Amino acid sequence: MTNSQDKRHLLKKLPGVDRMLILVSGVPDASDVPRTVVTESIRQTIDRLRKAVLENQAGIGEDDFEEAALIHHVMNEIGRRMNPRLRRTINATGVVIHTNLGRSLLCDDAMDNVRLISGKYSNLEFDLDTGKRGLRYSAVEELLCSLCGSEAAMVVNNNAAAVLLCLDTLARRKEVIVSRGELVEIGGSFRIPEVMEKSGCTLKEVGTTNRTHARDYENAVHDETGLLLKVHTSNYSIVGFTSSVDLKDMVSLGKKSGIPVMEDLGSGTLVDFSKYGLSKEPTVQESVAAGCDVVTFSGDKLLGGPQAGIIVGTKHWIEKIRKNPLTRALRIDKMTLAALESTLRIYRDEQAAVRDIPTLRMITMGKEKTVGAARGMAALIAALGDSRVETRFMDLSSKAGGGSLPLLELPSTCLGLTIKGLSANALEQRLRCGTPHVIVRIEDDTVVLDPRTIQAGEPELIAQRIRDILQEMGDEQNHQA
Ligand SMILES: *Cc1c(COP(=O)(O)O)cnc(C)c1O
Repeated sequence: MTNSQDKRHLLKKLPGVDRMLILVSGVPDASDVPRTVVTESIRQTIDRLRKAVLENQAGIGEDDFEEAALIHHVMNEIGRRMNPRLRRTINATGVVIHTNLGRSLLCDDAMDNVRLISGKYSNLEFDLDTGKRGLRYSAVEELLCSLCGSEAAMVVNNNAAAVLLCLDTLARRKEVIVSRGELVEIGGSFRIPEVMEKSGCTLKEVGTTNRTHARDYENAVHDETGLLLKVHTSNYSIVGFTSSVDLKDMVSLGKKSGIPVMEDLGSGTLVDFSKYGLSKEPTVQESVAAGCDVVTFSGDKLLGGPQAGIIVGTKHWIEKIRKNPLTRALRIDKMTLAALESTLRIYRDEQAAVRDIPTLRMITMGKEKTVGAARGMAALIAALGDSRVETRFMDLSSKAGGGSLPLLELPSTCLGLTIKGLSANALEQRLRCGTPHVIVRIEDDTVVLDPRTIQAGEPELIAQRIRDILQEMGDEQNHQA
C-alpha cells in the first residue's frame, strides 16, 4: 500500500461517524455503553485508521476496512474505555510495601470503617458533647499519643507533606543542620535538600558521607540555626567505616543551644521487629522517648495503614504546626481518618496488630508458613493436569520494600513456574496483562510466585489464570494449524 491511488481507495472505505454509529448500534454489547463513549471510540478508531493509511503503517490492509473489522476495532476501543483504569492486582513479587502496587493493604476493620464513615455523615469536625465545631484530628490524637508516648500529634496527607510542614513551621528562613550521610532521595523524587528549599530553609550539611560526629553538629550551630534534623536512611544503608550521631546526643545539643530537634523516620514502626527475629528498626516510641521535639513517619509503610503523614511531638511545636496555614492545604480526608483510627486501635494489642494488619503479618511471616503456602499453590497448579506446566520450589528472599528495612532479606520458599512454549518474559507478560493482573518477578530465568505477598483466595485465582493461559496457547496453536 504505497501509491496514492491505493491510499485514496482505502480512505474512501472509511465510513463517517454517523454511519459507524448506526453499524455499532446493532451490536448487543454496545447497548449499555454511554453514547459519548461510543462516539469517542468511533472518532478515535477512524482517526487511527486514517493516520495508519497516510503514514503507510505496516500491518494495516484492506481487511481492516471491512464493516465487520471496523465494528471490531470500535468495540475494542469501547472495551478499553469501559474498563476502569485502576485495577485490582495480585502481588506475587514478594515486595510487601510495594509503592507501585499501592503500598500497604488496609486491615478489615479499616476497610469497614471507611465504608461506614464515607457513606454516612459523621462527627468529622463536630463535638458530639457540646454540639459545637470539633477538631478533625481528635479522632486519632489520643491514640497516637498513647501509642507513641508523645504529648501531641497531628496527621497530614503523607510523610513528604509532614516533613515540608514541619520544616516550614520550625525553621523557615533559618538553617537546618543535617548529616551528609542522611541527604536521602526517596522514590518519586522526594529529596531532602529540595524539600528543604521549598520550605524556605537553608540546608547546612555536616560530616561526611560515611561519618558524622557530635562535634560536627556542635561546630555548625550558630545564631541562624533553626533546627537539627535527623533523617532515617530508609532505602539504603551505609556500611563499613561509619559513624552517626545518636538522637539522644542531638537532643542534648539541641537543649543546650535552645534549638529544636526533628527526626524524619520515614517508615516509622510502632513494633520492635527484633522481637520477631528481624533486624532492629528504630521505633517511633524510642525517638519520642529520646526527647525529639517532632517525629514524622508514613501511615502506609511499616505502620500498615492508609497514606498519611503522622507528626508526633511536644505540645508546643504541634500547636504551632496546627496553626500553620499550610496545614489546611495538606489536610487529610475522612476516609484516611477512618482507616487510620481503625488501624491504630488495633495497635493497642501488639499480638492483634501482628496478626490482623496485613503489612505486619506479611513481614513477620516465618519461612515455614511460606513453605506451606508454596506447597498449596503447587498442588492447585498440578491439579490443572497439564503437562506443559512445571513448578519447582525455590529458596529465595522477599523484601519489605517501600524504603523500609533496606537490607533486610525475608527468607521465603517460592514457587518457580514454567510453561513449555513460553519464555519467562512471555509468561510474565501474560500474567501481568490478564485478568486478574498477576505481577511477578523473574529470577534465574524463571517466573517466581512469592507466597509472602499472595493473599487468601489468590492462589486459586492464579491457578485459574494459568489454566486460561494454557487455553489461549491451545487456541493460538489451533489457529495456526
Ligand atoms: C518514604 C519516606 C518519605 C516520604 O513519605 P511518604 O509517606 O511517601 O510521603 C520521607 N522521608 C523518608 C525518610 C521516607 O522513607
